[in-house]
Amino acid sequence: MSDKMISTEPATGNQIWRGKVGNIDKVMERALAAKRDWARQSAAVRMEFMRRFANQVLKHAEPFAELIARETGKPLWEARTEVEAVKNKVEISIKAYAERTGQKKLDSALQGSSALRHKPHGLMAVLGPYNFPAHLPNGHIVPALIAGNVVVFKPSEKTPAVGEFLTKLFHEAEVPEGVIQCLHGGPDMGKALVAHEAVDGVLFTGSAPAGIAINKKLAGNPAKIVALEMGGNNPIVVIDTPKIEDAAVTIIQSAYTTAGQRCTAARRLIVLDSVYDEIVPAVKNLAERLIVDEPFAEPQPFMGTVIDNATAEMMMESQEALLAHGGEAILKMTRPKEDLPFLTPGIIETTAIEDRPDVELFGPLLQVIRVKDFDEAIAEANNTRYGLSASLVGGKPDDFEHFWSEARAGIVNWNRPTNGASSGAPFGGIGLSGNHRPAAYYAADYCAYPVASTEVEQPRASIGVGLKDAVKPTRKSKDAHK
Ligand code: NAD
Repeated sequence: MSDKMISTEPATGNQIWRGKVGNIDKVMERALAAKRDWARQSAAVRMEFMRRFANQVLKHAEPFAELIARETGKPLWEARTEVEAVKNKVEISIKAYAERTGQKKLDSALQGSSALRHKPHGLMAVLGPYNFPAHLPNGHIVPALIAGNVVVFKPSEKTPAVGEFLTKLFHEAEVPEGVIQCLHGGPDMGKALVAHEAVDGVLFTGSAPAGIAINKKLAGNPAKIVALEMGGNNPIVVIDTPKIEDAAVTIIQSAYTTAGQRCTAARRLIVLDSVYDEIVPAVKNLAERLIVDEPFAEPQPFMGTVIDNATAEMMMESQEALLAHGGEAILKMTRPKEDLPFLTPGIIETTAIEDRPDVELFGPLLQVIRVKDFDEAIAEANNTRYGLSASLVGGKPDDFEHFWSEARAGIVNWNRPTNGASSGAPFGGIGLSGNHRPAAYYAADYCAYPVASTEVEQPRASIGVGLKDAVKPTRKSKDAHK
């Protein structure tokens, strides 16, 4: 089997990167050699390294953004926001480390002092997706390094160039080479990494099928910590609102930003009968106006390509399947250039489909489901095995309170898009969306384990209960040694 890897720009089909599948044994050897020294550095020193990394990101911000735009096909303006998020992750993670996993001392007159400290797990494997090839793996890497772990990062095989660039920025910040390494390869390399005995933890962002495969693989190995950040089949529910245009914009942003390739993208628009005839045409009108173009086009497009031709093909087939099973096209998703993965936004009414497939369609295709009242809307929103994000548009504070308490998701928003989560909050889902180890602000939690200690400077102990009186030595026994 060939060990060559090639990455092409989705928007042009041109080759952007060429390399080789990595050598896992060498990478592991280097990581193990670096592990002890990195863990022994003080957290303050490691944080300083991360701040230097942030400076490198800033210094190379424009070429970094251009590379992300070229390798993913997303617009340059959006790639720039990804670079900004990579830089900002450092200060957010430093604060989170101190708040979530810092040291605590509790003095007690009787017990001496009790201390809570955290230790790194050791060697963490980070597996990244292609849709945010820098920001999402970085969201695991920075907290893991701050906590004192060494990291082996396997970028998506669809975005190896960005993965390599990101790793290089750590090295330019003088983080030792063995502390963070990039290991190229596809799912097979991911599997080898997950199963490798030197790996103490797996931090994964990607699809539910791959996450489940990792979970199964490690089911008999509780010693490895596993954080799974997976996909969604996210609902956006619209009830009565006077702000139809704003509601339509919120829906468009939810469904089509990043060409629908966000884990938090709205896949299902659930609309009350009472607003359907206003909302749906407004969404359609806006969707028709969205500019789809290559990343560097002027004027800047709203969205670029999906990641590759196979994904574009799969999205088109999924649309056909929905239509064949009783769906109605409100706006058909199209593929304007046959040999390149550009897709225009699609809207399919799927109310009439009896068993709507509960799968994540990772592209710019929105399903519309019409319901008669709010209770039916909530039941429909929860009609999924996933549980990443959910939004309510319209209504009053009581309505949102009701929606919030009933919605099964890790992110529940009101009059805001399903996507665009804050890095200052935990980020994760339930059901098939995650394994209760949310990332972002809570990433610190899975990067270190707590060690509780009680400490006194000299041994000082007595037995208060359950002890016989001490036997006093008799004269005879005293004399016995004379
Ligand atoms: P993917 O699951 O195909 O791949 C992710 C990574 O895992 C890649 O590096 C891949 O090589 C590796 N991999 C694949 N199968 C593996 C296996 N069996 N064992 C070990 N490693 C394996 O995901 P993708 O297509 O690159 O990314 C898109 C998916 O990621 C979508 O489902 C999206 O919803 C999800 N996602 C989730 C979040 C989140 O934070 N919840 C964020 C972004 C993307």
